[in-house]
Amino acid sequence: MTTFSFELYPPRSAGAESALYLALPHLVAAGPEFISVTYGANGSSREPSLSVLGRILEGTSVQAMAHLTCVGSSYSEASQLIRQFLDAGITSFLALRGDPPVGASEADSFLGDLGSAGELVQLIHRVQAEREQFAVHEVPGFPGAKRISRGRKVTIAVAAFPNGHPRSRSVSQDLDTLLAKEAAGANLAITQLFFHADHYLGFVEQARAAGVTMRILPGIMPVLSVQRLARILELTEEATPVDLERRLSAATDEADQWRIGIDHAVSLGSELISGGATGLHLYTFNQHEPVLAVLRGAGLLDREKEHA
Ligand code: FAD
Repeated sequence: MTTFSFELYPPRSAGAESALYLALPHLVAAGPEFISVTYGANGSSREPSLSVLGRILEGTSVQAMAHLTCVGSSYSEASQLIRQFLDAGITSFLALRGDPPVGASEADSFLGDLGSAGELVQLIHRVQAEREQFAVHEVPGFPGAKRISRGRKVTIAVAAFPNGHPRSRSVSQDLDTLLAKEAAGANLAITQLFFHADHYLGFVEQARAAGVTMRILPGIMPVLSVQRLARILELTEEATPVDLERRLSAATDEADQWRIGIDHAVSLGSELISGGATGLHLYTFNQHEPVLAVLRGAGLLDREKEHA
């Protein structure tokens, strides 16, 4: 079965918060595998992220995945952060190194104690194991008897970069980094957004050849305006998708741009699924209509659930 999941970001104003909480029930009703919530650079969104995650945990049965970054944190700060999220009931994480402040070099000491996302993966596992070494279970049919097992494991996703990370020197370095993240205990990878199915499918093939066995979910984003496209390219440093940019620029009005953006994401999603992707991870920009339109177009939306 092909799954789908969504990414949200913590809202930055009261108006944005109301809009998010209007969109959330629609996203939940669609039946995602999980909903992830981003984390601001240098811990700037700890409380807002926890608040959105709490809303998912308390009000829905959807798995809530917390993005965490470690750049700029000491071991003790990172451990404390992880504990805080575990205490809030989070058992699913996207472990990221995060971006150093603009202008900082790798040699700067304030980049923190953890040098990579892989080290954060290990730390999350360690903190969870220390916190919950054992789980005690009832034994059915034997009143009063208890069975002890190892504590619950957490799900830890990591980022993958089909077109290379801007800091990476080569494709093999990105593959080595991904392999190291899996060796550290990651069990899922989610990709940076990209615009051509071949970029993902080729990357997965290379990753499998390099020994990566975990699931690699493609991250896709419906891009509904030229301005949005420019902003995304600035943030991700991905190459410009010339054809999409040309079509968005030639659009007659907003409705036309919307149609072009959705059509592009639907074709991309459909090609990924035909090529073997087991799910789609959709960057929502905290809106439900575009991503639900993409899922509907790709045949992944159960209409009964959508209107439940
Ligand atoms: P790493 O995997 O540790 O490193 C990234 C790349 O750098 C590697 O692939 C490798 O090529 C290279 N590299 C690693 N170590 C070295 C080394 N020692 N020397 C040279 N090169 C090296 N950012 C946020 O702030 N908050 C978020 O919520 C967030 N969510 C994201 C979700 C997804 C799905 C993705 C793809 C990215 C997200 N980011 C987020 C952005 C992310 O923090 C940046 O891309 C960051 O630059 C790298 O983080 P990482 O976890 O991939 O780091």
